[in-house]
Amino acid sequence: MAHMYWALCCTTPECGRFERVAYIGNVNPYLAFILPIGEDEQFTATCPQCDKTHTYTAASFAPIRQDQPPEDGFENWF
Ligand SMILES: [Zn+2]
Repeated sequence: MAHMYWALCCTTPECGRFERVAYIGNVNPYLAFILPIGEDEQFTATCPQCDKTHTYTAASFAPIRQDQPPEDGFENWF
């Protein structure tokens, strides 16, 4: 079991920060994860590292594994 999150990779070339945007759960990390959003859905996000704003789609998200559960105040995008 592992704490799995959906993460968004900043598309600023020199940045590339991975930002966790939704908690999937404490689950088997080898499962296939299905995004709960449509292919056409768009998100606009400002990166906390490079401060640039980009538009993202379902293809922009990737599941990542972490040791810690979400901290207090963590907000899921979806
Ligand atoms: Zn960035």
